[in-house]
Amino acid sequence: ASSLPYRGRFAPTPSGPLHFGSLIAAVASYLDARAHQGAWLVRIEDIDSPRAVAGADVIILQQLRDHGFSWDDDILYQSQRHERYQQALDQLTASNLTYRCTCSRKQIKARGPYYTGVCRQRQRRTEDSSIRFLNNQPVLEFDDALMGRQDIEAPFASEDFVLYRRDKLYTYQLAVVIDDIDQGITDIVRGADLLTASSWQINLWRQFTERLPRFAHVTLALDANGNKLSKQNHAPALQADQVREQLQAAFRFLGLPEVPSASPVQMLEAATEHWAATHLP
Ligand code: GLU
Ligand code: ZN
Repeated sequence: ASSLPYRGRFAPTPSGPLHFGSLIAAVASYLDARAHQGAWLVRIEDIDSPRAVAGADVIILQQLRDHGFSWDDDILYQSQRHERYQQALDQLTASNLTYRCTCSRKQIKARGPYYTGVCRQRQRRTEDSSIRFLNNQPVLEFDDALMGRQDIEAPFASEDFVLYRRDKLYTYQLAVVIDDIDQGITDIVRGADLLTASSWQINLWRQFTERLPRFAHVTLALDANGNKLSKQNHAPALQADQVREQLQAAFRFLGLPEVPSASPVQMLEAATEHWAATHLP
């Protein structure tokens, strides 16, 4: 437990407009922050530039405003922070915690569902390679504030995940940890699709700082076919004329009672009280 003032965040990838799944992450992180009288930051995770869609950030921010959200501090754009990520990567390399990997996606896939570390001993020097984290002390378990103790399957927790891609992009795993540290984030509230990633991210946190954030993962919303709501699965965008309904549906999904229909800001305020009643000691 840290005694730092609460700072939470919502960190959308600007690959398209927000859908119901992303609204749940936004609402949960927002209610938890406000219930703790904490700050709530928005960060645009546009580090994966091939996936970023021009203008999606503007749409996302407007969708957030429409739903009554207001954020603290300036919005951080990952695309502006390459120097910082390089510095972090250099620091890990100086600590002998990285190595180059020349395996193709196809080769890795042929060997199984996770990367087995075949390049560890190869001492690759070529720039035409990815850079992986030497994951010798995997994080096999952690406590989640909403889902309880999590045991991560060893082969996944132990994977030497990628920090820098062969196509010369810093990865989400590296960027998100550096940003959360630099922004003083104390509480990471997000979708349960990132549970395994949390084990990796805790590992990275330990390389840069003594403190760890609190993690709280919310159950994922699924579509009628049982798939995660995502842009890849063509989840429909939030509708500007359905703001109240979408907020109510998100509250219901999060197990909160219905709130009186009012302005979106007032609805978020009412839901914050319900969240506090359910999730604060
Ligand atoms: N950018 C990620 C996403 O949109 C979320 C990352 C996070 O909350 O740590 O799925
Ligand atoms: Zn390799």
